[in-house]
Amino acid sequence: MFETLTAEIIAIGSELLAPDRTDTNSLWLTEQLNRHGIEVKLKTIVGDDDARLEEAIKDAVRRSKVVITTGGLGPTEDDITRKITARALGRRLLLDEQVLAEIRQRFQSFGVTMPERNSRQAMVIEDAVVLPNPNGTAPGMFIDHNGTAIVLLPGPPREMRPMFENHVAERLAGRAGSLRVVRRMLRVAGMGESAVDEKIAPIYTQYDNPVTTILFNQSEIEIHFTARGRTEKEANDTLDRLSTQIEERLGNAIFSFAGEKMEEVVGLKLSLGGYTVSVAESCTGGLLAQRLTEVPGSSKYFIEGVVTYANEAKTRALGVEPILLLEHGAVSAPVAKAMAEGIRNRAGTDFGLSITGIAGPGGGTEEKPVGTVFIALADDVKIEHRKLHLPGDRQLIRWRASQAALDLLRRRLL
Ligand code: ATP
Ligand code: MG
Repeated sequence: MFETLTAEIIAIGSELLAPDRTDTNSLWLTEQLNRHGIEVKLKTIVGDDDARLEEAIKDAVRRSKVVITTGGLGPTEDDITRKITARALGRRLLLDEQVLAEIRQRFQSFGVTMPERNSRQAMVIEDAVVLPNPNGTAPGMFIDHNGTAIVLLPGPPREMRPMFENHVAERLAGRAGSLRVVRRMLRVAGMGESAVDEKIAPIYTQYDNPVTTILFNQSEIEIHFTARGRTEKEANDTLDRLSTQIEERLGNAIFSFAGEKMEEVVGLKLSLGGYTVSVAESCTGGLLAQRLTEVPGSSKYFIEGVVTYANEAKTRALGVEPILLLEHGAVSAPVAKAMAEGIRNRAGTDFGLSITGIAGPGGGTEEKPVGTVFIALADDVKIEHRKLHLPGDRQLIRWRASQAALDLLRRRLL
């Protein structure tokens, strides 16, 4: 097995601990680090708290060869990263005259005098390399501490990203040697998690490189591969060997090979074939139309969508015969098929796609419990339908119904 260079990321700032804020910097950094063969083993979020931050930095430096912090480099009292990192490393914090001159100059270029507190941002940790910040006042720092790289980056993504790309990536890549990590994800529709695993576990368990993980996400199964190699090509070849076998095993159930969403896959197939589609929805309330039209360029193939919740709306807008509704109920195969055919005729499209079902929590019966959904697809030769029993709460049932309908169309377009 290959030894990888391991990193950890510390996101600093009390606002990141608020219930509605996300540390997106570390997601971006992880992707960049992986690209250079550096594996992220741990992430921490610390508020603006001297003691906690000092502890976090000390721990990180003890166990990781690369430590990256973001945030807390601003000019205010609560921006403590410089001071606390210096303390944790036992180094002095020194005023860098050149950095100070640059910050003054930056303010002058906007026609204002530098507020005194900004001189804090010219304090540099002893023996740190200063990383210029053309998009803000706070410079970053790169410190080599007994062989461990400690990198201090600003919090705002538009300052942090270019600084990493221009001044940090190369330096770290040198330390990582030539080891590369590549990732890939396959998405599967129409199969449960255990069914997928049953099929592919006999294959992927034979490999410890790539590492395979299976994730369940709403109604899709995601298969993630991470492969290592001495070069990017070697890592990709290693990944291809396993991925090809998995692809053969799962066949058409795989709908996405590079992170595309179901609606994007369907949209691409429609637009390549020059086809048009219209949709008629009941229990999904427009979700199907929304997902289809979320894709840029969907006006080429998406013509019309109607939400017919009440029985009389199904009759008025789609021409569903009242007798069908009376005899079979709104949630039934005949009504789903009549809806698909009705919207297809009305919109004059190649395909008409429909959904009718019981999303719950109320409205279920013994015969048709919550989660009973019918989907139908009409084209010029036939109308096919599926009866589904979808698990989950109201929101999940609606999402899964839309996914199944899109998948029905995708398979028709294969
Ligand atoms: P400034 O000089 O702007 O104060 P700073 O280095 O002190 O820069 P922070 O004050 O910690 O950075 O954060 C500034 C802003 O950057 C935050 O309000 C937030 O919008 C964004 N930010 C900070 N950390 C993160 C993070 N981990 N992920 C995403 N955004 C972040
Ligand atoms: Mg700040």
